[in-house]
Amino acid sequence: MPPSTVCLTFDFDALSVWLAYEKTTPAMLGRGEYGARVGVPRVLDLLASHGLEATFFVPGHTVESFPDETERILAAGHEVAHHSYAHLDPSTQTRDEEREDMERAWAALARIGVEPVGFRAPSADLSASTLELVEEHGFLYDSSLMADDYTPFRPRIGDRVARGEPLVRGREARFWELPLSFELDDWVHFQFNFDPYRRGGSTPGDVLEIWTAEFDWMHANVDGGVLTATMHPQVIGRGSRIAMLDRFIRHCGETGARFARMDTVARELDGA
Ligand SMILES: [Zn+2]
Repeated sequence: MPPSTVCLTFDFDALSVWLAYEKTTPAMLGRGEYGARVGVPRVLDLLASHGLEATFFVPGHTVESFPDETERILAAGHEVAHHSYAHLDPSTQTRDEEREDMERAWAALARIGVEPVGFRAPSADLSASTLELVEEHGFLYDSSLMADDYTPFRPRIGDRVARGEPLVRGREARFWELPLSFELDDWVHFQFNFDPYRRGGSTPGDVLEIWTAEFDWMHANVDGGVLTATMHPQVIGRGSRIAMLDRFIRHCGETGARFARMDTVARELDGA
């Protein structure tokens, strides 16, 4: 393994993330459309200028609503991975609803020739069934959890947890977890919203400081570390933030780190 790996990941949620809220307005949907209209082309141009491949988690709703943009992502050589169909928080769905949504997304991806090997839960949350469904569908990796930071791991299925009783560990899953974090998530730092209220509004400089410090610590202390940056074209697509991402890519590249698609990392782990 090279000393450090950076996975640039983009959740191309477009409208779906806003439709999942209790109240959706045309203005909110417009912000989602910005991701397709402005964000994706800017992200693709930046990645191309550095000659990098990345991973895009694309909900089925986006695949069907923005087929041209999704096709551009594929044509540029990036990985397209599974991110549900309707982008609903799995913890609000029954097991059957979650399975149905997962399979609808699978079918939407299959129609554009994609057989996904990776999954990311929408809303950065899981139901009690999600990991079992991920395993049942044969995914090679999931990227939704935070039990580690720079080291991929096998998540556990079937933990028993109750107040007043110690954790009873479940079994190891057959797929890899490529962990993410809110510290390295553009939505958390930047995305303002009225209702539900999200503060957003961080300066690109502040976020670049956090992201480069995260990378630098990993690079200095974790052998073969894997850093996952989670971004959204509708957030990172703003000019000031694309410029920030450009600086972050340059910083990591100068250390000799490599940039890789998540499916590449998961296949290497499987072969190790
Ligand atoms: Zn998402």
